[in-house]
Amino acid sequence: MTKGRVLAVGDVAHMVDPFLGEGIYFAIKSAQVAAEAVDGCLSKKTNTLAHYTDWVRNDIAREFIALEKLSKLIYNYPRLWFGLIERNPDIMLRYFDVIRGVTRAEDFHKWVFLQVKKKPWKVLRGLMGGRAKGQK
Ligand SMILES: Cc1cc2nc3c(=O)[nH]c(=O)nc-3n(C[C@H](O)[C@H](O)[C@H](O)COP(=O)(O)OP(=O)(O)OC[C@H]3O[C@@H](n4cnc5c(N)ncnc54)[C@H](O)[C@@H]3O)c2cc1C
Repeated sequence: MTKGRVLAVGDVAHMVDPFLGEGIYFAIKSAQVAAEAVDGCLSKKTNTLAHYTDWVRNDIAREFIALEKLSKLIYNYPRLWFGLIERNPDIMLRYFDVIRGVTRAEDFHKWVFLQVKKKPWKVLRGLMGGRAKGQK
């Protein structure tokens, strides 16, 4: 993410959500944190970009790991995901909160897994072919 006096942000730093490929929020957020790091260097007359690298390691990397786990669940079991969205249409609204910076991806990921764990029989039925038409 940094090399010498250069910082990479956004797409070029691979800051694209592994779940749905959203990159605008992460491009803006990383540019803001990078700007703070540069400002820190200029005002404190230091040459450390640690503010940015720490944020990448401790914050954004953890977010992407959570989204990566989620995308493995969804892309390996699309029927399961379809069933979950059918029963919880607000899932996507919660995801939009992630890409608006309102909710952490880690929390969203935990919440989705909780929905799966709460009703494992429904998940199993979804995996085995879905429910009969009209059946709740
Ligand atoms: C078809 C498509 C749909 C998308 N839809 C969404 C979406 O709905 N939501 C979402 O969150 N993300 C979406 N994305 C991803 C999102 O567009 C990117 O993640 C985001 O734009 C990355 O911003 P960035 O500033 O890092 O890079 P960019 O927006 O690519 O900006 C880089 C800029 O650098 C310029 N440039 C390149 N080389 C040089 C050079 N040598 N000298 C000077 N300038 C240069 C380019 O012309 C460009 O203007 C989509 C991407 C694509 C391709």
